[in-house]
Amino acid sequence: MISTIRIFLMLLSKQTPIAVWQRELAGAVRDPLVLMQALGLEGRGVSTDAARQFRLLVPHSYIARMKHGDWYDPLLRQVLPLDDELQVVEGFNYDPVGDQHALVAEGVLHKYHGRVLLVTTGACAVHCRYCFRRHFPYSDSNPVKGEWEGALAYIRANPDVREVILSGGDPLTLSDERLALFFGQLAEIPHVTRVRFHSRLPIVLPSRIDAGFLQVIAAIPQQVVMVIHANHAQELAAADVRQALAALYAAGVTLLNQAVLLRGVNDSVQAQVELSENLFAQRVLPYYLHVLDRVAGAAHFEVPDAEAVRLLAVVRQCLPGFLVPKLVREVVGEPAKTPVI
Ligand SMILES: *Cc1c(COP(=O)(O)O)cnc(C)c1O
Ligand code: SF4
Repeated sequence: MISTIRIFLMLLSKQTPIAVWQRELAGAVRDPLVLMQALGLEGRGVSTDAARQFRLLVPHSYIARMKHGDWYDPLLRQVLPLDDELQVVEGFNYDPVGDQHALVAEGVLHKYHGRVLLVTTGACAVHCRYCFRRHFPYSDSNPVKGEWEGALAYIRANPDVREVILSGGDPLTLSDERLALFFGQLAEIPHVTRVRFHSRLPIVLPSRIDAGFLQVIAAIPQQVVMVIHANHAQELAAADVRQALAALYAAGVTLLNQAVLLRGVNDSVQAQVELSENLFAQRVLPYYLHVLDRVAGAAHFEVPDAEAVRLLAVVRQCLPGFLVPKLVREVVGEPAKTPVI
């Protein structure tokens, strides 16, 4: 009886008020018809079968940056379930990056020297149709659970791990409490000198960068890097995104961007130049431009390598070198991202 009461009191004390971003995430659009109505595109061909395979998910803040009535809007393209996804195309499969073989502990991927990547959660704030994780069996591959013991034990036992990358899913869908718990323990491991977030939330749910999160960041003793994920300049053209990036920059976070080269979204010189210019205007440096991982259901987004290389050659003539992203692909078994040349 006593223990029941104690557990109940513990639960009560753990209850923290729901943050604005959590409410916005809960209210994100999941019904393709609602999205179509919001954009004045009723009656266009959304694929219910594709949405069944990988359901639609998109926050209102992101929808607000789409052009009304434009079926080919580059932001809409990234989230809209289309019949194209149902095509079976040779060479496009279910684990194109070989994640399943690189698990060294619960939720810990150690593929590259000096850095580990933690699959902290399967949750994202948006479902990107081209994502290689659209088939990732998160529930059996054990995202980092509970109190993070397994991941921390692995990091502690491997002194060559200097950088810890929080990925997912999206690590910023975790609560401030969960993140603070982890960073508190990571702070005790002297060989870890950098922490890195891979997150799309500053772009798709910028309210996530709130006072609570900035406190979590301020308490991290290591250098902090955040690799955001924007594919198109239009994703950056919003006051809430500008505020979020400015707050991160002011908190001393090094900001980098990774993008994916996507047919019909950003496969032009103009789109790439505008993306780089707009990123830097908000203090973000372009880092990687990934060619598409060949994941089943995403073939219609693919830009052939030869075309990608030609495109980047022209981009290089339009921008200072530090605004040209590295064109890379993920190759199973390779010790780093592989340059596409
Ligand atoms: C991409 C990736 C990294 C990070 O690679 P960088 O080149 O350092 O950005 C680390 N671990 C895994 C498993 C990755 O897939
Ligand atoms: S992991 Fe990144 S690219 Fe994939 S669905 Fe989530 S936010 Fe989009």
